[in-house]
Amino acid sequence: MIDLNVKMQVPFVDLRAQYHSLKKEIDNAIFSVIEESEFIKGKYVSAFEKEFAAAYGVKHCIGVANGTDAIYILLKMLGIGEGDEVITVANSWISTSETITQAGARVVFIDTEPDFFSIDVSKIEEKITPRTKAIIPVHLYGQPAEVDKVKAICEKHKLIMIEDCSQAHFAEINGQTIGTFGLASTFSFYPGKNLGAYGDAGAVITNDDDLARKVRMYSNHGALIKHQHEMEGINSRLDGMHAAILSVKLPHIKKWNEMRLKNALYLNEKLAAIKGIEIPKIRKGSTHIFHLYVIKAERRDELQKYLKEKGIETAIHYPTPLPLLPAYKYLGQSEKDFPVTAQNQKKILSLPMFPELTREQMDYVADCLTKFYL
Ligand SMILES: *Cc1c(COP(=O)(O)O)cnc(C)c1O
Repeated sequence: MIDLNVKMQVPFVDLRAQYHSLKKEIDNAIFSVIEESEFIKGKYVSAFEKEFAAAYGVKHCIGVANGTDAIYILLKMLGIGEGDEVITVANSWISTSETITQAGARVVFIDTEPDFFSIDVSKIEEKITPRTKAIIPVHLYGQPAEVDKVKAICEKHKLIMIEDCSQAHFAEINGQTIGTFGLASTFSFYPGKNLGAYGDAGAVITNDDDLARKVRMYSNHGALIKHQHEMEGINSRLDGMHAAILSVKLPHIKKWNEMRLKNALYLNEKLAAIKGIEIPKIRKGSTHIFHLYVIKAERRDELQKYLKEKGIETAIHYPTPLPLLPAYKYLGQSEKDFPVTAQNQKKILSLPMFPELTREQMDYVADCLTKFYL
């Protein structure tokens, strides 16, 4: 064991390490955008859209301002609104549900599966009503949700499936990349995501020509050609600078995902024997790109405090199940409506995870955890 009195700093993520590994290319990309004044949309955005669509093997990628807008715009352009219901999962970032409400529809939450933190597919059908229009599964923490099964339910009930891929760029389930199961999928390129810009950025992908056209139009004030507004829209465009940075990073994403997985497997091995914690599980037939490394821990809050004292940054994703937030008080739901999510929420803790995490940092984290549960 290493000397735990020698305190180490282990940040939750280290975006600087990644920047330094590509500094020259990123600096050049940023300066080119400025030099050519390609600030909003323009050639860098078009180039990234083409590259991302090609990497995903889909016909269309539309860059938008962020991953939240991506969901909102899709719902609007699918004609989902007043009087409709959209099903999603109780444990996610609020973007997934707030956009459903913003579109004018009613959000219907489903509990999570115990092991993989995704939507519990067995609990979906009982919540489908004649008003249900769509289901938004979320690939949370980098682990694919069972979108193959959700898709089958959608086909049976004639519903639309939109995949929220913001935490799982290029993860796979049964050999197929997530984001290619539904009618359309959404991505966030928030700086801390596995593929991150240097500010807010997002995208929609789809194979549907008509939907792609509408999304592009709506995100740009309802116009495909300047001043030709075919409808009213919003201002949600991808900036040239973010697109240029994303183009530099895109060729590296699979390697970074593998580095995360390797780190996660190393941590799993070091933490497996500790009584008091449960290490993250990987679903059979799936890849996991470990956007987050989430353990379930006894005495979680005490542990988090201890790790903080030891210089280890952690986080909770998310401290409150979405339906139990004050924002959703009007739904009148309680913990007993989401027993698995509510149970998990008291135990989940996200440990530091990023591609450049060192062996020393991971050994230190493992030793601190071991000591805490002695
Ligand atoms: C980050 C995230 C979003 C939203 O992305 P922004 O770019 O921050 O708007 C949506 N859904 C999930 C699951 C996310 O993690």
